[in-house]
Amino acid sequence: LSAEQRAPAFELRALGVLGGDIDTNLSCYLLGHPGQRAAVMIDGGSVLPGIIRWKEDAGELARDASPSEQVRAASKVIEPIEALLLTHSHLDHLGGFIQKSTLDVGFAMQGKKPLEILSLEQTIDTVRSNVFESPLWADFTAIPSKEQPTFRLQSIPALAPRMVGGFQVQAVPITHIAGTAAFLIQSGDAFYLHLGDTGPTQQVWDVAGPLLRRGKLRAISIEFSYPSADEQAAIATSHLTRNLVLGELAKLAGVEAQALASDADAVGLAKRLAPLLEGVTIFAAHIKAQKYEQVSKELAALEGSGLKIIVPQQGKAYRF
Ligand SMILES: [Zn+2]
Ligand SMILES: [Zn+2]
Repeated sequence: LSAEQRAPAFELRALGVLGGDIDTNLSCYLLGHPGQRAAVMIDGGSVLPGIIRWKEDAGELARDASPSEQVRAASKVIEPIEALLLTHSHLDHLGGFIQKSTLDVGFAMQGKKPLEILSLEQTIDTVRSNVFESPLWADFTAIPSKEQPTFRLQSIPALAPRMVGGFQVQAVPITHIAGTAAFLIQSGDAFYLHLGDTGPTQQVWDVAGPLLRRGKLRAISIEFSYPSADEQAAIATSHLTRNLVLGELAKLAGVEAQALASDADAVGLAKRLAPLLEGVTIFAAHIKAQKYEQVSKELAALEGSGLKIIVPQQGKAYRF
């Protein structure tokens, strides 16, 4: 089957997409099976603003709805969430989730099972000792009770598969702060690779490369934080630019690539990569709001290269 003919295995709902600067639109995604209510959240930078935007766009919520109406609409989305896959502890990936724990505690008091917060050990330790800790915030891992809390913090060993919300999930260490994970998520025979923040990295490409070559990789979400002119800032803060992302995709595809000096170089590499990444959607995530126009221009230069790059939009869903 061609990429267009096969049935979609995943539905990714973007609730927050930017890499900073606008606190109502920061990294947060829902992952579910197409047409079903999502049980998995990936990162929680901005949660409610994305749900409200989605429901307004769908005509299910008035644009002048009261806060109570907004919360009722959002609660229907949040209540079925069983797990948060947390790439790392930076607040632009966690702040909205923390703020809305007041809704989660309500579900817990009605008897909902604890929502699991899953990540690599260092990230879980950071959250345990800094976030759900007075006086910064309340300890929702012991509220309403230690036996039936709102959240359960759960570290997962690197590369150990486990079932989460109907998907098989593996955490793969990537290069950002210590304890940062990408999530390789499997549904049947299909895979989705979600990278949070990362600088140039390797292990995740070693893991995903064989899946790409066997035609099983449906999509990758990867950060395009900075324009290529800001490469030094990107490297210094363990982030990526468009040109650096192309270098990472070359590692995934097993292609030798030189440093890119110009747009023409970038287009050339994109054209070499396109046939090897056929059928793989690349979500360009985590663009810094301050740099959005520059990065968009760099992405526009790749149109026609054959790479399928989508900039996710807050509130929209994507099937693959
Ligand atoms: Zn970030
Ligand atoms: Zn970060």
